[in-house]
Amino acid sequence: MSFDMLYDKDVTTNYLQGMTVAFVGYGAQGHAQANNLRDSGFHVIVGVRPGPSFEAAKKDGFEVYSVAEAAQKADWVQMLTPDELMADVYNKDVAPNLETGNVLGFSHGFNVHYKEIVAPKDVDVVMMAPKGPGNLCRRTYKEGFGVPALYATYQDFSGHAEDLAKEFAKANGAARAGLLKTTFKEETDEDLFGEQNVLMGGVTALIETGFEVLVEAGYSPELAYFECEHEMKLICDLIYEGGFAKMYKDCSNTSEYGSYVQGPKVVNESSKEAMRQGLRDIQDGTFAKEFMADYRNGFKKLYAYREEMEQSQLQKVGDQLREKMPFVKSADKYSD
Ligand code: NDP
Ligand code: MG
Repeated sequence: MSFDMLYDKDVTTNYLQGMTVAFVGYGAQGHAQANNLRDSGFHVIVGVRPGPSFEAAKKDGFEVYSVAEAAQKADWVQMLTPDELMADVYNKDVAPNLETGNVLGFSHGFNVHYKEIVAPKDVDVVMMAPKGPGNLCRRTYKEGFGVPALYATYQDFSGHAEDLAKEFAKANGAARAGLLKTTFKEETDEDLFGEQNVLMGGVTALIETGFEVLVEAGYSPELAYFECEHEMKLICDLIYEGGFAKMYKDCSNTSEYGSYVQGPKVVNESSKEAMRQGLRDIQDGTFAKEFMADYRNGFKKLYAYREEMEQSQLQKVGDQLREKMPFVKSADKYSD
């Protein structure tokens, strides 16, 4: 393999020791990282606006400040607001409070890579990007493990920015699962590509289209839901555990044969070309520009797409069926 995973024993420096770390944002990632770092013995404070996150962080026993105050008190400012408004928060409340030698940390490269945020030359700019949702990062940490993470350095003022990024990942429990080195550009490109083409955009389009074909052909929407959406998780779990081989091994020969024959007809050369174009749009900044323009326009397009999704027959049928299956619901809360 061309890359080396790092583990706890490989991260031996101590530059993070004694630093005050401010988490700007206490949502999915902020909640997980702040609690993990505190449990690892570091001095953690939280900077958020008044509201639910502020209350949650207080309830979890953190010192909670305005973003500006937290940035002023901190040696390390970890930016964990939604990506689209991060540059606004940074410019208004963080930038004026950065001091020489501070560390500016991220969990996604978007703002730095696309130059929405341009840090001063006299700070370190690093990334620790967990490869999993916040709740899982927190839960696995508490179970004595962690979620693997990427680390990267964009700007090395101190001369040990990379060590700091690795220590931060270790403090999050991520080095128990494995750390991989990357760059802001690589992480941004791959993350956006994956979510748009495979994990979210690709999967939802596949589920939706399959559902529509069955329903339009006269099959019951309820059965179509089970067939195309509900079972997706069961199949994904098997793939996660042992790749396609394990998934096929646990399924019938009929299903395996049919999937080899039909799969490449559904996701075909034209789908691949659409993915290539999507990748180019990410690489040259077209997607980022479009997304930020929609944000600055009040997210008109995002909210219209969301409305359409919420009103779809698939969502409604699924909601009704999930209502009868309380076991599929997971707790969604960002309080510890
Ligand atoms: P969330 O939406 O879950 O949380 C955002 C936090 O920012 C909330 O605490 C919110 O507080 C706060 N916030 C919103 N607006 C402001 C504001 N104007 N001023 C101050 N605070 C504000 O975000 P995520 O945790 O999902 O994402 C954070 C970063 O982590 C992003 O860069 C994302 O790409 C990255 N990431 C996320 C992952 C995930 O698990 N979701 C996985 C890997 C990376 P309030 O309650 O007041 O709105
Ligand atoms: Mg992502």
